[in-house]
Amino acid sequence: MKKIFFIPALLTLSLNTAFAQEGEKLTKQEIQETEANAEAIDTIDTRDKYTKIVLYKNFTWSYVELDRPNISDEDFQDDWDSESIHAYKDVPLSEIPEEVDLCLTDSLHSWACPKIGQVNSGFKFRRYREHKGTDIQLNTGDPIYAAFDGKVRVVREVGKAGGYGNLIVLRHANGLETYYAHLSKHLVQENDLVKAGETIGLGGSTGRSTGPHLHFETRYMGKPFDAERIFCFEKGELRDTIFTLKKHYFNINSHFGQTDKESQAASEALVHVIKSGDTLGALARKYHTTVKKLCQMNHISQTSTLRLGQRVRVR
Ligand SMILES: [Zn+2]
Repeated sequence: MKKIFFIPALLTLSLNTAFAQEGEKLTKQEIQETEANAEAIDTIDTRDKYTKIVLYKNFTWSYVELDRPNISDEDFQDDWDSESIHAYKDVPLSEIPEEVDLCLTDSLHSWACPKIGQVNSGFKFRRYREHKGTDIQLNTGDPIYAAFDGKVRVVREVGKAGGYGNLIVLRHANGLETYYAHLSKHLVQENDLVKAGETIGLGGSTGRSTGPHLHFETRYMGKPFDAERIFCFEKGELRDTIFTLKKHYFNINSHFGQTDKESQAASEALVHVIKSGDTLGALARKYHTTVKKLCQMNHISQTSTLRLGQRVRVR
């Protein structure tokens, strides 16, 4: 019998098309035999992760080309640095544009929600420190997907990325960066090109973490903003194809769900650094607010002890 190669995509075509040979017609039985023999039984990786070898039941094989990321190395020249976790360290906020349109997806570039799940904590001031990401619940070992096509800028093992634990940072062609922290395993290496939806690591609880979750950050020119402005993690949806990033979004008090006016006002929030003798009552009087409001804004109770150097939001 004739050996017929075909790639899995062709399996979905009608047999008449797949087997059409000039001047020849296969019987129904021959078609069934050929179909059974050409069944893929194994896939072997090659040195190029987008090329696989597929082995068929009839001892034939073929190369299968998977979709490659639709980007090139030239998209990633600007401030490329794998030595430090955060890029653009020396760029002050004043040098960042007031507004920038980021194209997140189009007909050539897809997207994927890094992890669909419940959000346990968002972009906010939390327990006296800025929580710069979104915490998404998961089970250790769950696959974590690249949000967009991109290039791996940073891969860090536990102990080399502070509280992040096992960390991956991807740079995308539009300048956006996405951070994936507390992973149990990395599946990519620095400088790899990755495709949206590719599994880049497995979820875990490494670093400063009290239980398995993904800490996901979005940054532009090194500055974090609320990742929930881009994704609805609960539904696994991208909120829009083009995202307009505004400068006031970089403030820890600016978050998804606010109007621009509210975000602007929140970004002008004032923080007081606790000095000797400061009390909540004294702060409330000084900043024309109430102890109750201070407690709400800072997620503390009226009996909390203020520490020297503690940053307390007063507006
Ligand atoms: Zn977190």
